[in-house]
Amino acid sequence: MMNLSALVHSLRCSLLRIESRLLQITGPETQLGPCVAVNGPSLLPRIDQEPLQGDDEEQSPEQTSGLLDSILWMAAPKKRRTIEVNRTRRRDERKLIKAKSNIEPCPECGHLKQNHILCGFCYEKVRRETALIRGQIKAMEGGPLRAPTVETVVLYEGETQSEQDRGKRIVERSRKRPAWFSY
Ligand SMILES: [Zn+2]
Repeated sequence: MMNLSALVHSLRCSLLRIESRLLQITGPETQLGPCVAVNGPSLLPRIDQEPLQGDDEEQSPEQTSGLLDSILWMAAPKKRRTIEVNRTRRRDERKLIKAKSNIEPCPECGHLKQNHILCGFCYEKVRRETALIRGQIKAMEGGPLRAPTVETVVLYEGETQSEQDRGKRIVERSRKRPAWFSY
């Protein structure tokens, strides 16, 4: 423990020495402030010279002056906006999501969809069926790079190859043709 107090004492002595050296360099008039203090223009009115009011009366001007003297004060709102004013601004009509009037039920499945836009539920059915057909083609030919450069005809259950389809790639599906899957 003696070693520790001796160390503290020597540190304090060296700090005092550094301080006196700095005072010698800078001169006795200059006050050494913390590094965070910012020097603002001296022409600006100083906040701590304004007359104090209300609860701040017990705070003497000597307490407020000092460290905060050289800080440049930033603009800040003077009055608090009420929650009514804030909510009126936030819920302004221009900021709300527009109500859509172009929604109608899908003629195929009855789900709601936008006008002139493909129904998502019907599209999902088509997507699944075409993925199955693509998988069947891949199993037939063993890879996408071996595809012949011919048209593909999908034959469902109970359908036969017509004269036009001769020479085309034939994919046979073991189910009935869905109503929405036309030629
Ligand atoms: Zn639909």
